[in-house]
Amino acid sequence: MQVPVRYVVHAANTNLTLPAAQVQALLDAGICWTDGQQRIHSSHTSAQLGEWSIAHGIGVCDFCSGQPIVARYGCVNFTGMGSDGRPMKFFGDWVACADCERFIDARQFSLLSAHCAAAHCKRIPRSRIAKTQLRQRISILHRQFAHHATGEKRAI
Ligand SMILES: [Zn+2]
Repeated sequence: MQVPVRYVVHAANTNLTLPAAQVQALLDAGICWTDGQQRIHSSHTSAQLGEWSIAHGIGVCDFCSGQPIVARYGCVNFTGMGSDGRPMKFFGDWVACADCERFIDARQFSLLSAHCAAAHCKRIPRSRIAKTQLRQRISILHRQFAHHATGEKRAI
């Protein structure tokens, strides 16, 4: 299996790590640009980049980074712990693929974190973080999401 290359995009309010295909589409649309140091920037916020990606059918699941996405869950902005263990700001709605949607709607958060940790390890096989620790962090993040979710859900 080929591991998709991911890029960090320096958005107006936070950094995002996105798959190569999504970054290429954002570059092609002129929403992002590269500087002389191969870094990718955008004057848009992470939420605006997310909305553009959803509108153009290239959004990735906020839970496992899978595609395609099928649902969006209303959520207020919050600061939580990212999967790297550092504080991170999360803006607005969260979008989900069909697998994650099933776990979220059934409130099977343990299965959701297992699915996301497995997806992360498949995507980044040489990730420096142990799978159990990653799953723990993801689980904490998902609890934070559940706490801040508004209860609204819409199909994409
Ligand atoms: Zn997913």
